[in-house]
Amino acid sequence: MKETTKAIHTPYQRRDAFDALQMPVYHTMAFEFDNASEMADAFCGRTNAPDYSRVLNPTVTHFEEIIAGLSGAKEVSAFSSGMAAISAMLFSTVASGKNVVSSRHLFGNTYLLLTQTLHRFGVEARLTDLTDTKLVEKAVDDNTCCIFLEIVTNPQTEVADVKELSRIAKKRGIPLIADTTMIPFTQFDGKDLGLDFQVISSTKYISGGATSLGGVIIDYGNFTEISRRIKKEAVFNLGGYMTPHAAYMQTLGLETLQVRYERQAESALKIARMLEATPGVVEVGYPGLESHPNYDLFRKQYGEKAGAMITFDLPDEETCYRFINSLEMVHRATNLFDNRSLAIHPASTIFGPFSPEEREAMDVKSTTIRLSIGLEDPEDIYTDLSRAIGKALKD
Ligand SMILES: *Cc1c(COP(=O)(O)O)cnc(C)c1O
Repeated sequence: MKETTKAIHTPYQRRDAFDALQMPVYHTMAFEFDNASEMADAFCGRTNAPDYSRVLNPTVTHFEEIIAGLSGAKEVSAFSSGMAAISAMLFSTVASGKNVVSSRHLFGNTYLLLTQTLHRFGVEARLTDLTDTKLVEKAVDDNTCCIFLEIVTNPQTEVADVKELSRIAKKRGIPLIADTTMIPFTQFDGKDLGLDFQVISSTKYISGGATSLGGVIIDYGNFTEISRRIKKEAVFNLGGYMTPHAAYMQTLGLETLQVRYERQAESALKIARMLEATPGVVEVGYPGLESHPNYDLFRKQYGEKAGAMITFDLPDEETCYRFINSLEMVHRATNLFDNRSLAIHPASTIFGPFSPEEREAMDVKSTTIRLSIGLEDPEDIYTDLSRAIGKALKD
């Protein structure tokens, strides 16, 4: 079966008592057993019968199994948010005295997880330029426990060469972990690219319509001790397993992921091209544009469709504020890949709590606007954007 079909026709582990067409939401916290030995087997992990919904729930398992089927993963683990998945991943990988090699161009909370939270536990964040192989090779040493990247950084839209990073990680025998939230995992073969783990905020593309928070770890099974820690330590001891209700909504999201992505990515390319030709727009950041510095590398790794996030620069911060204030249809909101289009000024919001020096080191510019292109007609989206740009420049 092709991906769109598989997303809809992955069977349940067991036939439902009422032959429900949708996987039911098992909104129960505990499950009963026929006898003491079955109960003991479940609790000791000798069978995978659900016992308690903090660690196993059939609705969540079904969601995980669809993703496993679509991605070719050995194991998939679902969490209550993208950050819960990322922290479960990193807590399963790091140890005190070790270091993580990554980039300064990271999602804000991932950056703080590495530089504040894990730092307090004796883990060093070695933030370097992941697009420069020589710098990465210099940063990695015997105490490096993983290389962690984001496949398209936000808001810089930078793309690193994953095969090169994989070569460095393999040479050292350490995992290459990628936050692949920016491009749906169905668009590329993570295993073939050399990724050992993908972490995803399923709040974004997968949920569709921004219905629920969620996070996913796709594990290709190359590091068995880490896999055990994710399933047996992180899920059990840290908590943060996905709720059955979120799994239900995100399973519906998976069913429409391909069609939504195709539409949103096509609209984004059209709009990015129109923005490039719009007077007053200083620069457009979209890896699907020939003018993007990583255009060829992006296509080679992630295919022709380049996602639904666009950044663009206006002459100064005041113009950015006036642009945001002049929008009539596009919403002033954070989040990515909702069905509706969203706009935000990252420097003053997501990166607002950082100092100007930190923002500069992270290449977050005060002149940048971030857009998430939704499912509306692309002409309507562009009409609102260009009108707001015109107004912002004139006022
Ligand atoms: C949103 C996002 C996260 C965090 O996900 P939540 O579901 O909000 O916890 C992590 N990484 C990237 C790239 C994101 O866009």
